[in-house]
Amino acid sequence: MSYTKGLQEVGDGLDAYLQPDGGWGWSNAGLVVDGERTLLIDTLFDLALTDEMLRTMRDAVPTAARIDTLVNTHANGDHCYGNQLLGDARIIASEPTAQEMTELPPAAMAALVKQAPSMGELGAFFLDCFGSFDFGGIELALPRETFSGELSIELGDRELRLIEVGPAHTRGDTLVHVAADRVLYSGDILFAQAHPIAWAGPVSHWIDACDRILEMDPEVIVPGHGPLAGPHDVRELRSYFQYLYSEATRRHAEGMTPLQAARSISLDRWADWRESERLVVNIANIFAELSETEPLDPLAAFEQMAALKRSS
Ligand SMILES: [Zn+2]
Repeated sequence: MSYTKGLQEVGDGLDAYLQPDGGWGWSNAGLVVDGERTLLIDTLFDLALTDEMLRTMRDAVPTAARIDTLVNTHANGDHCYGNQLLGDARIIASEPTAQEMTELPPAAMAALVKQAPSMGELGAFFLDCFGSFDFGGIELALPRETFSGELSIELGDRELRLIEVGPAHTRGDTLVHVAADRVLYSGDILFAQAHPIAWAGPVSHWIDACDRILEMDPEVIVPGHGPLAGPHDVRELRSYFQYLYSEATRRHAEGMTPLQAARSISLDRWADWRESERLVVNIANIFAELSETEPLDPLAAFEQMAALKRSS
């Protein structure tokens, strides 16, 4: 299937909304329709993008004029900053996601973008990532319902399962599985054809999440970013993390910094994956797991990525 902007059918009453090129902030979303009932999986990074998506959905599926339920797969703004446009929809997220959503308010992102031009290399990289989005006017609508572990949702005649697999990419990552149709909406547990980024980790837990997806045996996976994917992409991601884990462990024992390790690890098999600067954050996350310390905070993570980008 082609990777173009807009809605793509992935099953009967199941759609993906894709935003090429899938880079920083360019996230995907999902729509599930059964009879009169509609469920949206994630909103987008700003109000204009979310509004455009909702209009596209309404044009294609009249029932989508009113969305009953919204699931946020995790707390990153590119999956929830548009929530306020859903009115009184039931908003569901895992407990840790709901908690984490209160921690980086859209106003803080707006302030960072404003300050970025005076922040040197870090600011330039930050603008590269987030300069095309408009964080003004966003009043983040938080989940009104939370769950832990798993939650089954009935939508018309359909059953959807929300499965918490975090902490991995973030603290509360959630998969949305439509088992009867073998479709999985993975959120950012899968970045198709791009490097993942372990904000929370541990990476070993993310590897477990990959195994869990493979056991579900989905036919189509709607990734959090990038083109439509399948189990092959999850196996590639698992191999990437396993390889990184062993290479990083050796370099950790040699006393390297994450940046030194990132510069010295050869990535032939994944050389065409986008956003390779994320490698340093993933290595730092593995180092933190090995030394039982906290992972990098987001600002430190962006500093490390900007430094890796400069040197590569
Ligand atoms: Zn994302």
